[in-house]
Amino acid sequence: MSPSKTIKHAFKAAFGEDPAFIVRAPGRVNLIGEHTDYNDGFVFPMAIERATFIALRPRADYRVLAISLDMDDRRAFALDDLQRPTETEWIDYLVGVAWSLQERGYQLRGWEGVVSGDVPIGSGLSSSAALELATARAFYEVSGFEWDAAAMALACQAAENNWLGVKCGIMDQMISAAGVEDRALLIDCRSLETASAPLPPDTVVVILDTNTRRGLVDSAYNERREQCEAAAQHFGVSALRDVYSELFAEREHELVPLMRMRARHVITENERTLQARDAMNAGDAETLGQLMIASHISLRDDFAVSSPALDTIVDCANADPACYGARMTGAGFGGCAVALARGDGVETFVDRVGTCYREATGNEPIITVTGASRGAETVYP
Ligand code: ADP
Ligand code: MG
Repeated sequence: MSPSKTIKHAFKAAFGEDPAFIVRAPGRVNLIGEHTDYNDGFVFPMAIERATFIALRPRADYRVLAISLDMDDRRAFALDDLQRPTETEWIDYLVGVAWSLQERGYQLRGWEGVVSGDVPIGSGLSSSAALELATARAFYEVSGFEWDAAAMALACQAAENNWLGVKCGIMDQMISAAGVEDRALLIDCRSLETASAPLPPDTVVVILDTNTRRGLVDSAYNERREQCEAAAQHFGVSALRDVYSELFAEREHELVPLMRMRARHVITENERTLQARDAMNAGDAETLGQLMIASHISLRDDFAVSSPALDTIVDCANADPACYGARMTGAGFGGCAVALARGDGVETFVDRVGTCYREATGNEPIITVTGASRGAETVYP
């Protein structure tokens, strides 16, 4: 059964009638442009087919009652009495979005419903942004305010930053809000301008989940952000986005080696991301694949956020004749890689990469072929 059907049944079982609305918001995979979002730079993700759904009906009061099928839990909160989380639980993502929207002046109404999805949790496909945008969409349906994708993304990012205490850039929320079917989305993380581009003809995107996660990721992420900020400060600009490669080449010797490497990744990655857009618009899978390979090397050697498992699965993919290019995706230190592969014969590509990775590491990977889906939307009625 499709997730949308499952959740409709679950709603009916819990509330005795059909839901008034079913909303969905997708997870994402980033094709290129990694660790550039918090440097005001460019990212190039696509919304994936896996998504979080909420089936709901309005309530006459200012309460939200939510049943999580995935957590097997039922929780409620009052919109005029939001409690800050001590230890983050799933409901806090809903509370945080309510807080953030109200902070921004949106008049919210209560609702009750069922939450469920198939974005794997904690594997780097941003189940958190999917849950946040689905929540925003649920409030939109019952409260009747205007839906603006960028405004919703910013509100959800603020919830994650300031309510849940997770420092993240704007990419995850923006692509979950504004994804375009069958296309990847170039996002300028400074202006939030977007431009979509089609995947090259006869190619597919394959998500290679290493099935590993290292605890290091949060502290390393914050450390990288600080290093990037310090490098930007050195160049006298507000973000590394403003340091062009000519300026960098002239003055990189002024930086200590570690900071030079970190800055070099961000500066070259921004350029690769813009080149990737051109390659995609030209339908040039070869060039796009080469840019992805270069991105991985830069993330591995200059930014130092890869891991042995990620390097292994990327090497397995890149060695395969069906692969144009593969790279780690997301914050790093485990989680997923992404590959651009030939559409015909992708099943054998999946098998071969699985075998290669399993034999090298003893780990079982989770490999998924995915199309590009639309951003947050109402799918029922
Ligand atoms: P990710 O990389 O997947 O975004 P995070 O740690 O940022 O991982 O967010 C995962 C958290 O988001 C979960 O621990 C849970 O609290 C919440 N979450 C995500 N998806 C769901 C869901 N379908 N149902 C309930 N909670 C969810
Ligand atoms: Mg997350």
